[in-house]
Amino acid sequence: MKDITVKRQDFDRYLVPTYAPAPFIPVHGRGARLWDQDGRERVDFTSGIAVNVLGHGHPALLKALREQADHLWHVSNGFTNEPALRLAKRLVEATFAERVFFCNSGAEANEAALKLARRVASDRFGQQKYEIVAAGNSFHGRSLFTVNVGGQPKYAEGFGPNIEGIRHVPFDDITALRDAVSERTCAVMLEPVQGEGGVIPADADYLRAARELCDTHNALLIFDEVQTGVGRCGELYAYQHYGVTPDVMTSAKGLGGGFPIGAMLTLARFAAHLTPGTHGTTYGGNPLACAVAEAVLQQVDTPAMRSGVHERHTCFVESLDVLARRYGVFGSPRGLGLLLGCPLTERYAGQAKAICNIAADEGVMILQAGPGVLRFAPSLVIDASDIEKGLSRLERALTRFLGDRQ
Ligand SMILES: *Cc1c(COP(=O)(O)O)cnc(C)c1O
Repeated sequence: MKDITVKRQDFDRYLVPTYAPAPFIPVHGRGARLWDQDGRERVDFTSGIAVNVLGHGHPALLKALREQADHLWHVSNGFTNEPALRLAKRLVEATFAERVFFCNSGAEANEAALKLARRVASDRFGQQKYEIVAAGNSFHGRSLFTVNVGGQPKYAEGFGPNIEGIRHVPFDDITALRDAVSERTCAVMLEPVQGEGGVIPADADYLRAARELCDTHNALLIFDEVQTGVGRCGELYAYQHYGVTPDVMTSAKGLGGGFPIGAMLTLARFAAHLTPGTHGTTYGGNPLACAVAEAVLQQVDTPAMRSGVHERHTCFVESLDVLARRYGVFGSPRGLGLLLGCPLTERYAGQAKAICNIAADEGVMILQAGPGVLRFAPSLVIDASDIEKGLSRLERALTRFLGDRQ
């Protein structure tokens, strides 16, 4: 296989053009650094969009994957398996949840959560209780149900009739939420920190109000923690930071540290509604994925990780603030833990992609969160020296970006 040489142009030739990948191809990663086909090294502040929580090639994850690969790869859900049982037990012990459903991605975890909410409401209160209330400018995945709930029309347009029974409210607006939730509501779905929408943390009062409204109206509170979970925001899950407990929570991205896995977590009394045959997926609970995720949690769910994320948060925020004042391209960072966003100033509005491209060329990979926000989601264990190196490369990129615009 290796004798076939591939280049970036082959993407345009052989792949469905759903993405527009960078001009270089990463081939090797260690810690917070990546090397491309030409041997060029870059500092990675993206972690594959908040996925590689332990960086690239973490020894504990390599060990877990190799050991499990020697034993058993896949058996189907006609059987259970040890890694899935161990991972579920660990998730239940570490969170509010009592039951776990495994799948392969964030969209699938949210799909399961939404189907669960509709099923619970239909079983308990009848067919008219099916409305889902969600925030505008959210992101919940790319399945038809989740693009409809996400409330960004551009992702749902042109794919046929919309799914009915979804209401959108402006994020972080308690009054609007109160007006939207009713006896017909089966669930309120929120990201505790909107990730794709621009790294916008919810107010604790807002999440508390959502909790109360759900209790009053017998609706399930669903937190989409696909991006905020697995240590990203400082606690294992962001709801623990806010002190507001959902009925259903979804996790993916960081959960596998780079190996695909998703999970929908809930309480036993709700889980009971998804009886055999009501939902499922072939790869859900795959032993390789679960063995890696177990190793991820073992590393991430520790007091040392929490304080490490806090320290790195402070370091990033202080340095980004300096760059914000010095160059005037973006404002002060917002966000929690190591999910940070810097909104571009009015003058440079909409140019996030251009800045990301220059940064990659200068040797540091960063993300956008929409066209108006630069997003930083580094490994939770990134070294101080890599942070410093990445930020000084970002500074060079900002100088070049401004130079190009003289
Ligand atoms: C990325 C993301 C998803 C979708 O996850 P996939 O694994 O791409 O399906 C859902 N919700 C949030 C908050 C996300 O950030």
